[in-house]
Amino acid sequence: MSYDRIFNFSAGPSMLPVPVLESAREEMLNYHGSGMSVMEMSHRSKVYDEIITGAEALLRTVMGIPGNYKVMFLQGGASLQFAMVPMNLLKSGKADYIVTGQFSGKAYDEAKKYGDIGLAATTKGETFSRVPQQSELSLRKDADYVHICFNNTIYGTRFNYIPDTGNVPLVADMSSCILSEPVDVSKFGLIYAGAQKNVAPAGLTIVIAREELLTKELPAFVPTMCNYAVMADNGSMYNTPPCYPIYICKLVLEWIKSIGGLAGMKKLNEKKAAILYDYLDESALFKNPVSRESRSLMNVTFRAQSDEINDSFVKEAAKNGMANLKGHRSVGGMRASIYNAMPIEGVEKVVAFMKRFEQK
Ligand SMILES: *Cc1c(COP(=O)(O)O)cnc(C)c1O
Repeated sequence: MSYDRIFNFSAGPSMLPVPVLESAREEMLNYHGSGMSVMEMSHRSKVYDEIITGAEALLRTVMGIPGNYKVMFLQGGASLQFAMVPMNLLKSGKADYIVTGQFSGKAYDEAKKYGDIGLAATTKGETFSRVPQQSELSLRKDADYVHICFNNTIYGTRFNYIPDTGNVPLVADMSSCILSEPVDVSKFGLIYAGAQKNVAPAGLTIVIAREELLTKELPAFVPTMCNYAVMADNGSMYNTPPCYPIYICKLVLEWIKSIGGLAGMKKLNEKKAAILYDYLDESALFKNPVSRESRSLMNVTFRAQSDEINDSFVKEAAKNGMANLKGHRSVGGMRASIYNAMPIEGVEKVVAFMKRFEQK
């Protein structure tokens, strides 16, 4: 069934898989014989408990999360994590940040409120068109953690390697790439992600943290709601969790499992990205401004020579059922966000349209 849906290339919130939306519709008015929707039930009820524990169990299986890691379903978006990470993980007071775009820049600025924050590397001078290599990082051995943004949503770049930080825990913002491919969780001290790009509707933030890094004893200024150990010990139910997004998260994880887990997801995502990049590499009109080795699988940026052409492309594409191809307001040009739920047909359609537009 087509439902007259358009291909939505929004960077977030973004598309959800149709089978997920169909299940949600199916279960909307009476979830599994409970006589109510998931939006209306107590988060402490038995029926809801199955949803949240099921979501965590599935996330653990799909991502291969080791047993010594806690999983938390929080609120406040990835942006609250910019503060929660330093509030919880700064012990000696030092941390190093790799700044590869706007979000990691915000994380860096926020962390500076709490301690001695070093700039391990930045590619700002190259308009963030790549991420730095291992050899470019200046890391302090006595830092409490190193922070990176794994996929840079606005600039369309990503780390194609996991930085080696020795014994210093690595913290990663994976908001725009979580669940897009397999990742070795054991290489990270903490992973966080706002859910609205690849996992669920807005309102849910996933945090995965190595248990030994969490402690309840934090400075008095840290709100209880911002204490990872408290949230983890209470099974993400210190207060009311974002019940409905957690439910959709569970459906999305079931969908990912059904198409071959993260290995299957990666295959599909690589195929989709290749269709776009292969065309961009031969196009005389559109250019991808990113270094080849740093190209994102999730956010593909491109531009023509003038703003006029860019604007006209975005408008024409929208008229033809391909929405939200405008680049982030801070960089201009175009961006196709092709998260997990974007079907391959959407990518084929946009490339066919780009070809026609170029000929014209
Ligand atoms: C979208 C995004 C954010 C901001 O997420 P919020 O949930 O809106 O706070 C942070 N980091 C990255 C990498 C993002 O893509």
